[in-house]
Amino acid sequence: MKIKSHYFDYAAATPLAPEVLRAMIPHLKENYGNPSSFHYVGKEARDAVEKSRKITAGILNCAPEEIIFTGGGTEADNLAIIGGMKANGARGDRVIVSAIEHHAVLEPAGYLRKEGFETKIAPVGSDGLIDLNKLKKIINKKTVLVSLMYANNEIGVIQDLKRISKTIKKLYCNALFHTDACAAVGWLDLDVEKLGVDLLSFSAQKFYGPKGVGALYVRRGVKLQPLMYGGFQEKTRRPGTENVAGIVGMAAALELAERRKKSESARLSRLRDYAIARILGEISKSFLNGHPKKRLPGNINITILDIEGEGIMSYLAERGIFISTGSACVSESLDPSHVILALGYSYEVAHGSVRITLGRETKKNDLDFLIDNLKRGVEFLRRLSPVRLKMSNGRTSS
Ligand SMILES: *Cc1c(COP(=O)(O)O)cnc(C)c1O
Repeated sequence: MKIKSHYFDYAAATPLAPEVLRAMIPHLKENYGNPSSFHYVGKEARDAVEKSRKITAGILNCAPEEIIFTGGGTEADNLAIIGGMKANGARGDRVIVSAIEHHAVLEPAGYLRKEGFETKIAPVGSDGLIDLNKLKKIINKKTVLVSLMYANNEIGVIQDLKRISKTIKKLYCNALFHTDACAAVGWLDLDVEKLGVDLLSFSAQKFYGPKGVGALYVRRGVKLQPLMYGGFQEKTRRPGTENVAGIVGMAAALELAERRKKSESARLSRLRDYAIARILGEISKSFLNGHPKKRLPGNINITILDIEGEGIMSYLAERGIFISTGSACVSESLDPSHVILALGYSYEVAHGSVRITLGRETKKNDLDFLIDNLKRGVEFLRRLSPVRLKMSNGRTSS
């Protein structure tokens, strides 16, 4: 497979691992049966889905029946949040999500607000970590569900889920705890018992699996209202013929990611810290967003003052170097990232942030190439906008 050598957007999408593609091919070719068919051709497909469910459950330390396969991370998040709130409305009407969630969590929460539920936003500190005291204050007896992401896809900050779930339980509020783990797979421990979560979402394309397939862990006994109707698949919680090849590919990708987790995390943490030190040391008025230590091994999020994130992204893209500003889903809009704003920065500062994410193919010389070009790009763009530079130096204001 041809890998783009200067790709630094692994948080948006990863290439399909060759091992994963190999596992999928038979299910795109000869094993074309419908898992719901009673005959032998169907049974082969059904067995492949159930084997993948077992593999997934083994890694999450749960029972196979507690895994629902979905059409990706967004669907898993929607099913957890909308499905969890609607099925448990008798318990109360409050849903809590953090200010730095992915849109796949924020927007279902916004939809629920329009439907008459009470949506509350849990703030984070300037390092991106959940403010536990503020969270405690907004959890009440009527809280049905709390959704806080495991690791953030933009600034890479890792939350202490164990501590948060213990805190929630101590409040005796009975709230369900969901975590969006889309950015965490391949880096962090996914044991749902240790984490103390009731619902957990992830997406195959974020860990070298295929696009359009994901999963939701649902603790036994937790009720969910389905988002769709029309079949018995996934115990009617996600009707429709299963994406057999996708599910097989996701399970293979998950096994591979678990196997490589330790060595790959160590390798990329070193590269990440090297790159951060070089950027902050060699580019004036630049700083790191998010906690310096409690962050994903592959995540670098930097604000560079007196330039626009989009400007430097385009400059680099013209040279075949691919980075991102904020998350891929919003980079078409010119609104600054809600995540950077949630850290307490102004719009102007938020506009100057860029995300550089590393993965399996990233080597040290790729990073050096990126940083050399980043420096040149920043100098070029700053020369272009002397007015902004003066303003931010405080010398001219009108
Ligand atoms: C990518 C991502 C999603 C959405 O997953 P899709 O597979 O694109 O639907 C949700 N949450 C986070 C944190 C993500 O990184």
